[in-house]
Amino acid sequence: MIHLRSDDEIELLRENALLVSKTLAEVGKRIAPGVTTRELDRLAEAYIRDHGAAPAFLNYNGFPNTLCLSVNDVVVHGIPSDYRLREGDILSVDCGTYYKGYYGDSAYTFAVGEVDAAARQLMRVTKESLFKGIEQAVVGNRIGDIAAAVQGHAEPFNYGVVREMTGHALGRHLHEKPDVPNYGRRGNGKRLQNGMVICIEPMINEGTQEVFCDNDGWTLHTKDGKRSAHYELTVVVRKGQAEVLSTFAFIEGEGGMEASVI
Ligand code: MG
Ligand code: MG
Repeated sequence: MIHLRSDDEIELLRENALLVSKTLAEVGKRIAPGVTTRELDRLAEAYIRDHGAAPAFLNYNGFPNTLCLSVNDVVVHGIPSDYRLREGDILSVDCGTYYKGYYGDSAYTFAVGEVDAAARQLMRVTKESLFKGIEQAVVGNRIGDIAAAVQGHAEPFNYGVVREMTGHALGRHLHEKPDVPNYGRRGNGKRLQNGMVICIEPMINEGTQEVFCDNDGWTLHTKDGKRSAHYELTVVVRKGQAEVLSTFAFIEGEGGMEASVI
């Protein structure tokens, strides 16, 4: 079942998207060497609750926390812990909110202090691939056009595009159909319609695309131990140009990549 959202529903999804975006920025301000991922999780939970919303990931299929915090070789679904961030780490922060019956869901990969050039390139290319996907999220295109754009931007760098996890539609549930994979062929898949709300979220590995799940049942690692980056935004499919509901502007400022690409 594909949902086309009314203007009223989209305003509620926008409120969620903005709260998630601001939460990511609050977390980002605290990220530094020596800080534990558990501290970041507590900060995010308090911030979300202070705004009258609930953390969407907490207890979702049994997930124990507010944020997924994924360091270096962890692709997604890292569980907050006593791990202290180190200079040179990269940290993917994935955040969800539930407010007034609707959901928000976005992610950003942060550098901890100074990171090496290879990490900077991985982060830049992953974020660019997200915006390449967003450019395709227009009426008349298909899911495969988004997928092919993401994949087509990342693979020339010899990066691995994760297959096991995908983006998704978003609304009254955190994960709705259709899935929005980060690999695929142009012209394939479901046709995009005005008012569809989807999360596009490339997970791109420095090396192999292969991943494995930790014994904890959640933490997804790269098989070769190399690093992975993850960026996610929520968009509404529109004619000519997608309407982007969440934003990295609270993290990057108005001069962020978003303004230049969209
Ligand atoms: Mg997410
Ligand atoms: Mg998502």
